[in-house]
Amino acid sequence: MTAVPPRRPIIAGNWKMNGTLPEARKLTQEILQGLRGQTDVDVILCPPFTALSTVGEILKGSPLFLGAQDMHWESSGAFTGEISPVMLKEIGCRFCIIGHSERRAHFGDTDPVIHRKLLAALEQGLNPILCVGETLQQRENGKTWEIIEGQLKAALEGIESDRIARLVTLAYEPVWAIGTGQNATGTQAQEVHGSIRAWLTGRIGKSQAQAIRIQYGGSVKSENAGELLGRPDVDGALVGGASLNAKGFISIVESALQKKEN
Ligand code: PEP
Repeated sequence: MTAVPPRRPIIAGNWKMNGTLPEARKLTQEILQGLRGQTDVDVILCPPFTALSTVGEILKGSPLFLGAQDMHWESSGAFTGEISPVMLKEIGCRFCIIGHSERRAHFGDTDPVIHRKLLAALEQGLNPILCVGETLQQRENGKTWEIIEGQLKAALEGIESDRIARLVTLAYEPVWAIGTGQNATGTQAQEVHGSIRAWLTGRIGKSQAQAIRIQYGGSVKSENAGELLGRPDVDGALVGGASLNAKGFISIVESALQKKEN
């Protein structure tokens, strides 16, 4: 039996619709300086579209990655207001968040739309961070797993195991925890992450499933990062609000470093 290499922790900052160019510059520089070239955790900054090239310039030559918050599925065309994966690649993006619950709730990102975006990202060589998660009502009705399984099945339908294992990162983001200050407990997160890993094992096989990184997202901050990242199937974090503060974000990356060392 071959040993499965440990998964490399992955921390992404989703700045959402925040950051003028001077603010984006300052935050990126502070994060870079604070991380002092560490290379044991994958760190991704996802600023708004308008700041991608500014942040990308500053990150050039550093170990940090640039990511986008969303994309269209077509490469070009009459889609006013949209940005294509080709454009994101051109500007230096390596990652793209797909299926964030705010996109699902407010911008018509249904499961079929998310599937198309995921396929397009893979076609263009972007690494998708696929978000899944249940609302509070769904959790209270005992439907958490049913919802997450449905989102996973729809998004990954027909995609080869090898491609999923090599390129896709998953993010479990309970909707009730996003931006509310009410994070899932480590136990709640591990329960869902463990179920996702078990589902992946059935879908793509054990060794491939073991390779996939599953981030937790939802009110992650320096105070709770250790507890969440200490769980065996929590391989990183997708951080919203707390990623807008360099000190707080760096301390979350440091918690991920500790996970790697343990
Ligand atoms: C997010 O937007 O992905 C998120 C997790 O936000 P927050 O950390 O603010 O809850």
